[in-house]
Amino acid sequence: MSKLKRVYSFGNKTAEGKADMKNLLGGKGANLAEMSLLGLPVPAGFTITTEACTEYYENNCTLHPDLMPEVWDAMKLTEKTMNMKYGDPENALLVSCRSGARKSMPGMMDTVLNLGLCSVTIPGFLKKTNNPRFVWDSYRRLIMMYADVVMEKAEGIDLGEGRGIRKQLDELLDEFKKQKGYNLDTEITADELKFIAEEFKKKIIEVLGKPFPDDAKEQLEGSIKAVFKSWNGKKAVSYRRIESIPDDWGTAVNVQTMVFGNMGDTSATGVAFTRNPATGENLFYGEWLINAQGEDVVAGIRTPNPLNDETKNEQNKHLHSMEEAMPQTYKELCDIRNILEKSFRDMQDIEFTIQEGVLYMLQCRTGKRTGTAALNMAMDMLQENLIDEKMAVLRVDPGQLDELLHPICDPEAESKVKPVVRGLPAGPGAAVGKVVFTAEDAVIWYRKGEKVILLREETNPEDVEGMRAAEGILTARGGMTSHAALVARGWGKCCIVGAGALNVNSKTKTAKIAESNIVIKEGDIITLNGTKGNVYTGELTLMDASENPRFKEFMSIVDKHRTMGVRTNADTPDDAKIARDFGAEGIGLFRTEHMFYGKGSEEPLFLLRKMILSANVTERRKALNDLFKYVKKDMKATLEAMDGLPVTFRLLDPPLHEFVPQSTEKQEELAKALGIQKEDIIKRGEALHESNPMMGHRGVRLGITFPEITDMQVRAMLEASMELIKEGKKPHPELMVPVTCDVSELNVTKKVVDKVHDEVCKKYEVSKIDFKYGTMIEIPRATLLSDKMAKTAEFFSFGTNDLTQMTFGFSRDDIGGFLNDYLDKNMLATDPFQTIDQEGVGQLITMSVQKGRATRPDLKIGICGEQGGDPASVEFCYKNNLTYVSCSPFRVPIARLAAAQSAIKFGK
Ligand code: PEP
Ligand code: MG
Repeated sequence: MSKLKRVYSFGNKTAEGKADMKNLLGGKGANLAEMSLLGLPVPAGFTITTEACTEYYENNCTLHPDLMPEVWDAMKLTEKTMNMKYGDPENALLVSCRSGARKSMPGMMDTVLNLGLCSVTIPGFLKKTNNPRFVWDSYRRLIMMYADVVMEKAEGIDLGEGRGIRKQLDELLDEFKKQKGYNLDTEITADELKFIAEEFKKKIIEVLGKPFPDDAKEQLEGSIKAVFKSWNGKKAVSYRRIESIPDDWGTAVNVQTMVFGNMGDTSATGVAFTRNPATGENLFYGEWLINAQGEDVVAGIRTPNPLNDETKNEQNKHLHSMEEAMPQTYKELCDIRNILEKSFRDMQDIEFTIQEGVLYMLQCRTGKRTGTAALNMAMDMLQENLIDEKMAVLRVDPGQLDELLHPICDPEAESKVKPVVRGLPAGPGAAVGKVVFTAEDAVIWYRKGEKVILLREETNPEDVEGMRAAEGILTARGGMTSHAALVARGWGKCCIVGAGALNVNSKTKTAKIAESNIVIKEGDIITLNGTKGNVYTGELTLMDASENPRFKEFMSIVDKHRTMGVRTNADTPDDAKIARDFGAEGIGLFRTEHMFYGKGSEEPLFLLRKMILSANVTERRKALNDLFKYVKKDMKATLEAMDGLPVTFRLLDPPLHEFVPQSTEKQEELAKALGIQKEDIIKRGEALHESNPMMGHRGVRLGITFPEITDMQVRAMLEASMELIKEGKKPHPELMVPVTCDVSELNVTKKVVDKVHDEVCKKYEVSKIDFKYGTMIEIPRATLLSDKMAKTAEFFSFGTNDLTQMTFGFSRDDIGGFLNDYLDKNMLATDPFQTIDQEGVGQLITMSVQKGRATRPDLKIGICGEQGGDPASVEFCYKNNLTYVSCSPFRVPIARLAAAQSAIKFGK
């Protein structure tokens, strides 16, 4: 049996891995290998596989005995390439040790830099660099990072809130600076840094009870284990939950030769995107800092300089670009940008370092981007012939489309007010909400139903859950590439970073704006314009983003590749029109009862109540007669709005008592109309009360008891259709019977339907009116008996709201009380009312489709539960050969894209 390979080397324009080995080498490792193969200047190193990580967890958190020997073998190769030696007293090689999962998890796992500095190597390193300040600064950084990541976090030591070793060492450094009267780290001398390093080591023994290891080999082994451990760190786990990344993927570990951006003014470090990640514009976009290490750029401690002149903005236009300061190296970087885009055929997010004038590439990965950017890049790259149509369709995440259709600040309203503070526009769109100052508060308030803006001093990956819960994010520090900006952009959240005038105090939960009297307090409402970076106090009006021609063009390509239909759930002619504009190909669910809610519903609601509270058939028939014209009018207008396309009208569904009037005034009004006493109204209402209305007298059961209710609705639908036909229109009505569990219900109802059909035909002197007769499948029994249901039903539509409710036994109205516990305890991956539970409910759907089509091969099958607009559920529907999905109007484009992507990915 061949031996399992756990370590893959790269560097010197060769590599053992390549770009398509992400599962094994993680995104970072695979791309470092690819960049080496492309001949780019990558400092040599090696990648430890994700398999080694899962093996580590399977073996109770111990490294496989073969791993370290393999690591030291790979190190020999790196040493040879770099012409240095790890742990060597004369010519020491220093390395970094970084995580790198299959899918990027920016800032969520740990890193240790400058490994290999110890009492054996420091003297030689001092001699070699002739830069004692740099050496001692690197050493004290290593001690701090190692103590924090390896000795505390990986060991699972909890020193209590605000008492972590990093914090304590930071305090020690601050105290030292205070004593000396220094403001900046750069004022500390080399000797003082050396002294501080020794103080750090003493503190570590005092706090953690163990010494910082003075041995290069021990340092590397400890760091590898710590990076493996960070896969299960709190923030990584939270991020995985949100992004649905499986726990068993594990992380790879990249060990790479250190290059230093902090060796003086000819050294620098930076982060860049090959195109603008916020807008998609085809401009090289990035940030850099002279004499700094990578973490200084991404951690948002210093506001970085722009990469080039083209992409300067209001906030950084006074700072030197790299194009100005280092033109030769900038040109070299531009060439690398072109090579990367040609090779990866996508926008790349890169990290680079310049050590004493020499450029090195440390990382490249597919860059996170906003929805707008994703769309613009896909269309640009299609035009540039970099990608084909299918690839362009796959490039935009369906969820990101939502963001394109999301609100922006009404320019009119915005022109009348002045921003109170400005920052960098890190995530577009607009957000209004109440200010909270901690991630925990954001989650708590969100769960209470509040819309919140998370306002933080600086970006911190530990805040992920709060960031997710917030409508928008605002920070006082940080740049466009800081972790918060990156994460927020990936989620399409409105986000402003680096609003330097904000003086945030998270203890008092206030933010004072410099040079003004304005203090933002917890609970204050503010508005963010994430496209411009403007912050306003109070609530500004928001509006939908204007029609984007690029969006339309993109969607027409999407439709070329889509095979499954997309309809909408709409209950009014207005909604139908909106949905049609969004590309809906019909209505999959018209909930008749919705015409009794909201605008213009006073009169029909009154008549409906009259009907419900009627004491006998005669009274009920009279009320239904009066109601008829309203129902017909609504149905007609909806059919007209969807002319030429199918409209599925569902028979009245909800329990009748929901419509019983509660206010005295309404009760009196109704009593008068019925010629009875108010008390009788109350009594009749009480008689309709049910203990479990969701399983009570609703859906098809109403018409079984009161066929005249079905009669009125069918008549309204057919007469509306006939009138439209006479006007030259092409109505395609479909009648859908809800909450069925047996074919006999469909058969009994059908008798009423057929009788009305014949009567309407007579009235209009025609022999037949075309319509389809079908049912919702929303009770588990109906899925079990779908072969029988299909004998009468010409179509099925899965009502996955009720089907989920009845399969789980989770009340759709009460799940809020316990859902978070299930999610937090990892018992449910997602809310099954948002995404189809493929494992359970999905099985019923698959069976129902098979049984239904066994009886009636041309059975039309759709879905009209809320999950119909959820991309993962759309994919499931595609795989189960559904004819269409139906969802709310604003989700129609999302469903269209998800359906096209499913066809591209899984099409025959
Ligand atoms: C369903 O149950 O999935 C459905 C669409 O019907 P309603 O939500 O109206 O019960
Ligand atoms: Mg239902």
